[in-house]
Amino acid sequence: MSQVKALVLFSGGLDSILAARTLLEQNIKVTALCFESNFYDAKKAKESAKELGIDLRVVDIRERMLDLVKNPPNGYGKNMNTCIDCHSMMFELAVEIMRKDSFDILASGEVLGQRPFSQNKDALLKIQNLVGIDILRPLSAKLLPETSYEKEMLVNRGRLHRISGRTREGQGELIKKYNIKKYPSPAGGCLLTDPDFSSRIMDLLDNWPESNIKDVEILKNGRVFWFDCGEAKKALAIVGRNHEENEKLKSLSHSGDIILELKDINGPTSLLRGLNLKIEKDFKILTPKIFREIEMSVFDKNSIIKTLANITAFYAVKARGKEVFVHIKSI
Ligand code: SF4
Repeated sequence: MSQVKALVLFSGGLDSILAARTLLEQNIKVTALCFESNFYDAKKAKESAKELGIDLRVVDIRERMLDLVKNPPNGYGKNMNTCIDCHSMMFELAVEIMRKDSFDILASGEVLGQRPFSQNKDALLKIQNLVGIDILRPLSAKLLPETSYEKEMLVNRGRLHRISGRTREGQGELIKKYNIKKYPSPAGGCLLTDPDFSSRIMDLLDNWPESNIKDVEILKNGRVFWFDCGEAKKALAIVGRNHEENEKLKSLSHSGDIILELKDINGPTSLLRGLNLKIEKDFKILTPKIFREIEMSVFDKNSIIKTLANITAFYAVKARGKEVFVHIKSI
């Protein structure tokens, strides 16, 4: 009999490592599947898959994920996380891959009861019904109805687990049992669960309902300001907070954007998007000493540029109270 092939939804976190490892212990060939969007990346998955020595497929779902965040059929969680729809979408994509590439088993590292809403028994079985195929959850399998994979002996139910809840005790035992030396901390994860980033996304969708994945990407890189341009139009400015963000903003800028940087003094790079103005000049300003001195309610394009030049200079501490030149250039 040829080796059984499993496709495992894989974030690279501990639960997905243990799920993959459980199947590897049964001599099943495991391929990890992970998704990448503006809100989460595949870094952890790449490291963990390498550590386990398994193949990893990374699927870019940035466009689809943004569409979902703009219009989630099942609404939002505590923040802008669209977990129910996001989950369904990931499983639907996994099923497509499974059918196309003839995997025998679809599995995930979900743990019964770990998340009260999305991982209770009803929610786990609902997703399964929705995608129309059994999903094996190796960590909680013995607490869930037997899947077709177990019935057909593709996987041995006796060697699966009965972990539930949020305590992580069961996972601790498996770490020892499987002698797992390296696994990532639970930190990081999906930006949509972060309250600050969620409020940035909310403003973006309010101000620019047609925003795209490039607009979402710049929101990760600095202080965010929105300017009224009149006629209900808004311009978005991002002011870098460190060298890395400054470089990132420059690399993410595209035609139509305006970049502002101080001449002669190290300081922030600012990116302005949505103003629709061709400009290249050095602008002389007296940098405000306190932020309150900056006029924020502006409408015409020149006032917006002037205000952003003041903000850019203000965040260069050495420039405060001094006359400086800000270089302003359309891309
Ligand atoms: S936390 Fe983020 S990635 Fe995870 S299911 Fe929710 S929306 Fe999707």
